[in-house]
Amino acid sequence: MVDATWGTGEPPRDVLGPVHDGPAFDDHHPPRADLIADCVHCGFCLPACPTYVLWGAEADSPRGRIYLMNEGVNGEPLSGSMVEHFDKCLGCMSCVTACPSGVQYDRLIEDTRAQVERRFTRDRGDALLRRAIFALFPHPRRLRLLRGPLRAYQKSGLQRFVARSGLLERLGPTLTTLESLAPRLHKVPRPPRRVPARGARRAVVGMLTGCVQGAFFPEVNSATVRILAAEGCEVVIPPSQGCCGALSVHNGRREEALGFARRLIDTFEHTGMDYFVVNAAGCGSSLKEYGELLADDPLYQARAAAFAAKVRDLAELLDALGPVAPRHPLPLTVAYHDACHLGHAQGIRAQPRALLRGIPELRLREIADPELCCGSAGIWNILNPVPAAELGDRKAANVLATGADLLVTANPGCMMQVTAALNRQGATMAMAHTAQVLDASIRNLGAAALRP
Ligand code: SF4
Ligand code: SF4
Repeated sequence: MVDATWGTGEPPRDVLGPVHDGPAFDDHHPPRADLIADCVHCGFCLPACPTYVLWGAEADSPRGRIYLMNEGVNGEPLSGSMVEHFDKCLGCMSCVTACPSGVQYDRLIEDTRAQVERRFTRDRGDALLRRAIFALFPHPRRLRLLRGPLRAYQKSGLQRFVARSGLLERLGPTLTTLESLAPRLHKVPRPPRRVPARGARRAVVGMLTGCVQGAFFPEVNSATVRILAAEGCEVVIPPSQGCCGALSVHNGRREEALGFARRLIDTFEHTGMDYFVVNAAGCGSSLKEYGELLADDPLYQARAAAFAAKVRDLAELLDALGPVAPRHPLPLTVAYHDACHLGHAQGIRAQPRALLRGIPELRLREIADPELCCGSAGIWNILNPVPAAELGDRKAANVLATGADLLVTANPGCMMQVTAALNRQGATMAMAHTAQVLDASIRNLGAAALRP
């Protein structure tokens, strides 16, 4: 067996738990040998992979991880070292964009992660942290309960005191990261169940309010509802909707993801929607794969495929519909950051740029190394706070180099991650979701509405 840790610059180790006996993978959706065989080992994906860029180790490249999957498929046991290299993958899908052979790394890593979650016992600390994360993040109500205490912490001066005291640094990088990621919270009323279209109705759209988006960025949801209505969409927003399952599926918790997916389908299926609109990149990419996710479920298989066919990212839908609401000038220089699950996973790059360019007086700048992840990657930055901060710092430096007034992106994780990195560098830059920029233009709020 080839040593899985060959290469240089080894990342930190934190997976040392016992391994189940027998081969790495069981028969329930192992990474597919035919997809593994698509990799011709050319290495074109290596410079696009953030973990390879950070550590320069073959086992932390897409090609190296595919090699390890192949080892597992050929009967090698699931070692701690293998799991560590799979765990260190951000799931950013930059390698999918870079690969000239069309290797479906997204499928491969998703199947691998589900096997790891079922067949590998993690060490206590890692298992506890993951349990805590999944007891909180995919539960919008629990997240909303955090808003009050978090606002009090931010407003009371306690946050400044804790920052000056260096207490969090002493308690460890995970807590420091969690604290630094928390956005400044504002009071925003919850959206109504149904919002009529302004003018002639062009479509009925169901809308995902999301977990982190709904709890920490409700102003993005409000802006989304207003733009959709202004562009002639009736918006349906059932308050009973829960998590879409993206976080769970991206972390190998397939059974949990299936439950979330079934519930979301039940909630929206009979609303009469033409489209299901999503304003968070990570959620959108998973929702578009509901057909595959529920392919083994005879009750939901066809319903999931029909649901997935209606899923649109907000920018994708608005671009396809074409504008009817007049745009007003926003004299701003804007840097647009491609969230990985929008650019790499959904191929949506042109649409948000076209929407931004449609705003009079707005100038658009490109960020260097756009393919490299900012280090957010769902919960990757919580599980891997040190390398995530390094990736965040790189992204923040490239963002600042554009000289833009405003950073625009379409994923709550990226917004939190880049804001935290900018803060670490003592820099400030206004940040907004594409929806907020369009909303400010349509409502003629002026550039000041988007500055801090
Ligand atoms: S998904 Fe991202 S981190 Fe993982 S192997 Fe591909 S490029 Fe590297
Ligand atoms: S994943 Fe694609 S780009 Fe990377 S080594 Fe394999 S074939 Fe080449």
